[in-house]
Amino acid sequence: MIDPVEASCKSVVDTIPHLICITNTKGKFVYFNQQWLSYTKATSNKELQRTWSDFFSSEDLELFKNYLDSSIKQKEPFETQVRILDHTSQEHRWFLCRFLPIFEDDAIIGWIGTFTDIHEHKRAEYIHAFMSEISKISSSSLDYKKTLPQIAQFSVPDFADWCAIDILENGVLSLVALAHKNPRKLAWAKKLRNRYPPERDENRNSSLMAMKSGKTMRITHITDELIRSFVKTEEQFKIMKKVGFASVIIAPIFLDQKAVGVLSFVSSESNRQFSKLDELVAEEIAGRISLSLQNTKLYKQVEHRDQQFQVLYDSNIIGVAYTNLKDNVIYDANDEFLRMIGFNRKELKKLKVKWDAITPAEYKTKDQQKVYELMTVGIATPWEKEYLSKNGSRTPVIIGAVLLDPSSTEVMTFILDISERKKIEQRKDEFIGIASHELKTPLTSIKGYIQILERVIQQMGDEKLNTYLQKTNDQVNRLNSLIIDLLDVSKIQAGKLLLDISEFKLSDMITDVIDVVTQTHTTHTVTCKGNCNVLVRGDRHRLEQVMHNLLSNAIKYSPKNKLVEVVCDVKPEAIVVSVTDFGIGIPNSEIPNLFRRFYRVPSISQSYSGLGIGLYISKEIIQRHGGKIWVESEEQKGTSFYFSIPTV
Ligand code: ADP
Repeated sequence: MIDPVEASCKSVVDTIPHLICITNTKGKFVYFNQQWLSYTKATSNKELQRTWSDFFSSEDLELFKNYLDSSIKQKEPFETQVRILDHTSQEHRWFLCRFLPIFEDDAIIGWIGTFTDIHEHKRAEYIHAFMSEISKISSSSLDYKKTLPQIAQFSVPDFADWCAIDILENGVLSLVALAHKNPRKLAWAKKLRNRYPPERDENRNSSLMAMKSGKTMRITHITDELIRSFVKTEEQFKIMKKVGFASVIIAPIFLDQKAVGVLSFVSSESNRQFSKLDELVAEEIAGRISLSLQNTKLYKQVEHRDQQFQVLYDSNIIGVAYTNLKDNVIYDANDEFLRMIGFNRKELKKLKVKWDAITPAEYKTKDQQKVYELMTVGIATPWEKEYLSKNGSRTPVIIGAVLLDPSSTEVMTFILDISERKKIEQRKDEFIGIASHELKTPLTSIKGYIQILERVIQQMGDEKLNTYLQKTNDQVNRLNSLIIDLLDVSKIQAGKLLLDISEFKLSDMITDVIDVVTQTHTTHTVTCKGNCNVLVRGDRHRLEQVMHNLLSNAIKYSPKNKLVEVVCDVKPEAIVVSVTDFGIGIPNSEIPNLFRRFYRVPSISQSYSGLGIGLYISKEIIQRHGGKIWVESEEQKGTSFYFSIPTV
């Protein structure tokens, strides 16, 4: 009869989820529990014939035997970790083994061994350490040709038996890294790849499949059918079988969200079947590789941009200076800017040269506006100014500035020396001045002769000749006013436009100009509204010139609509006069340019004659009177020019 207590103990031992065995000191087994038998897939009798080396991974045997020896000597239990072959998966799994000695007469005659499955825990621990090493490798260099072979090498043999990394280079998937747990097989694997290059057909190439789908592919168990679907020849099939592909993971690698390669892990000799956890790990590694490729790309772009900027900085085509808005000190500059301001780099640093110290007083208001622009939008659009050099000379420049970082006050400024352009402009102005002066002398004598001819023709009473002479006279008058305008431009440039101030009635001046203009332009009607009956202090002749310019423009640029309106508005601080037409209008983008010298709206300049100086002169005249001139316009609807002059 079986003792019921012994029977209960046996069923407990068979039920607990641990492998249990009893062994003697010679290494002979005397007992296995049911768990052991099902794990190793053997019958008790057969199993009892086996030794440790039949179960344990060869890598753990020596250490285990050392523990047994020292347990005999020390008469102590021991605890260690070993890998035991799982007969179902043919994989070695990790177990925590505890050995409790069995004594007889104070000597050890054997052990009761318990084995607890700690495989998943060990794997998680390993993966943690593995991933941190992979991170270290991938951040060690920006050259993926250096890091990827290290990653592949580090993945074998613990994570996989093989590791390959392929990256698209010039449109072709190239093997960048290959590692195998047995280095001798590496050369053979490379040869194999040369002999059977990867298929271009994505239905027969698992790497291309993974890249196309953008998803990680895991095959836990590679069957013969699967191998056959990928190989072309029987020879290739045999080789693949010989290699013994057991399981595979292929994870796509991305750059700019496009798949540009694959990371492949293969298990062969170890016969391991990759788990879902392994798939996640592979995906994570592929993710880190993707990130490092992205970083490399960004780094190269930045490096390239740096190089480009350095070339510009060193080329001395344009001045570059750095400053801080907090103290306005120029803390660095390239040679070109130093040349403009006449300091060397040492002096710049030592003297802590400030922007405002090298800016002439008349440019300070504009500079302040630009600093405001910088602080509000981060960029100051180019403007013209001058710099004072150490020796007191001035350099005309165009400058633009940008905040280095929106949250900082550091500014990078680009400065273009426009001295040459200014010299050319000056010569052009001088030429215009001389040419108009020279043209004026013969024109004055032509006008004199016309007057003589007028008298002679009147005496002769020849109507036809008289008409011709009047036409000649009109053209000479036109020529004369063009030359007067050009001379005015020269005077403005030289600061010699003088005003002859007197007091007069605004309505008289406006009526006179309207009369003159409507006599020569009979096509249009000019009306005058509002309160024009006020006294004005100013240069009557020059203000007439402004009215004349605005009215002739209103008529010239409204060929289809024949009405022009003049309105006077007396405000407490200023008198505002407007000239409105219902003509072609002006594009909004052109409005800031209108009052520039020789500027004409390009889209219409071919269709209407003119020199582009009327508004420039008008602005100068009005500003000299302490007033303002401005415009409001809508394309194809019409334009209103306004000017204001202070009340008396
Ligand atoms: P211009 O001799 O060319 O008329 P202005 O200095 O008087 O020179 O005017 C400059 C430019 O402004 C003109 O070329 C034209 O393009 C535009 N402009 C001036 N007045 C008007 C207007 N009333 N309607 C439309 N465009 C105008």
